Amino acid sequence: MIWDRKYETLSREELQRLQLARLKEQVARVYEKVPYYRRCMEEAGVRPEDIRSLDDLARLPFTTKDDLRQNYPFGLFAVPLDRVIRIHASSGTTGKPTVVGYTKKDLRTWAGLIARIVTMAGVRRGDIAQVCFSYGLFTGGFGLHYGLERAGVTVVPAAAGNTERHIRLMQDFGTTVIVGTPSYALYMAEVARSLGVDPRRDLRVRRGLFGAEPWSEGMRAEIEAAWGIKAFDNYGLSEVIGPGVAGECEEKRGLHINEDHFLVEVIDPETGRPLPPGERGELVFTTLTKEAFPVIRYRTRDISRLMFEPCPCGRTTIRMERVTGRSDDMLIIRGVNVFPSQIEEVITSTPGLAPHYLIIVDKKGYLDEIEVQVELSPEGFSDRYEDLASLEEQLRNRLQATLSLTPRVKLVEFGSLERTTGKARRVIDRRKEAAK
Ligand SMILES: [Zn+2]
Repeated sequence: MIWDRKYETLSREELQRLQLARLKEQVARVYEKVPYYRRCMEEAGVRPEDIRSLDDLARLPFTTKDDLRQNYPFGLFAVPLDRVIRIHASSGTTGKPTVVGYTKKDLRTWAGLIARIVTMAGVRRGDIAQVCFSYGLFTGGFGLHYGLERAGVTVVPAAAGNTERHIRLMQDFGTTVIVGTPSYALYMAEVARSLGVDPRRDLRVRRGLFGAEPWSEGMRAEIEAAWGIKAFDNYGLSEVIGPGVAGECEEKRGLHINEDHFLVEVIDPETGRPLPPGERGELVFTTLTKEAFPVIRYRTRDISRLMFEPCPCGRTTIRMERVTGRSDDMLIIRGVNVFPSQIEEVITSTPGLAPHYLIIVDKKGYLDEIEVQVELSPEGFSDRYEDLASLEEQLRNRLQATLSLTPRVKLVEFGSLERTTGKARRVIDRRKEAAK
């Protein structure tokens, strides 16, 4: 089933015509309403009437998270505050939070986009969805909540935390869909088992919609095995709208981008130049319909690539590869680029280990050092390993082959690393802490 058949199956020509019309309107509006955008465009020597084709998009200046912070809190709003009926904000762990606003129409649009991705994941009326995201300034909880309602799904807004109650509700209500972060989904399965509840046998959950943190295919396999469900990825960021920018269909071959609302580009993160179609680079989004908080060429720091081949599901929108690396998450260790997701992929494909890990980066003298702490699987040692040392060595060798550097490896008891109900903390970079 396709939620919005008219817009999700447009021909490329029809779609591009619509995109261009909306882009012209959006650029003219931000030029008129947002002094910051007008100034940036004047500095770049471009006026709204210069946008005559979609290629002209590249003439517009980028917007970054820093620009958002500098205009804290409402400087980039394109409508008067009395038309803004909802505000969300990022956590602001690394500086001032970034604040976004929605008009009544924006909220309607947002719920409709979430209804699309919910439908893509095979969730529909008759399903009972338990939302395990936190509800608050973070866009995940409310975003999914209203979109699921729009799709006609029965929503249980249980929110993050109180994991035992989550399991009880799933048993009592017959929950069929869980929505949350992938790391919390794994933790919930552990808690269920500790309560004597087998998530595969004793619960009716059949699908999961996960997002808000990068997760590998290995992690997906772990979650699907633990719950006996199909797990779907979705993508979004609060600066662009929140969740609802893109979602996975049943084919699970990339995430369909809601292109009638978001214009996507892939650029070289170093030079800022647009890359040829199909190349991997940084995703950049321009909102085409947002009223309160439009963004022009917003740099996401997320690394992905676009896929243009037709999808068997019938949707014609282009797809983006799953984001497993955010350029912000990339660690540079002795000059080597390392993504935490690469380490996760190795861990989840090594038998005897649990998908719970912590990466600690430190500096010894002038040299960077990396330590990977991983939990043993709850079954403890499998018979295939003679002792701890051989498993450690195997993991070290596999990580070395993937990363081209040799990390220290420390196996720890199952359950000893911290569990969170929201986004998991995977990396401690002591080099940064020492530099402060
Ligand atoms: Zn598809």
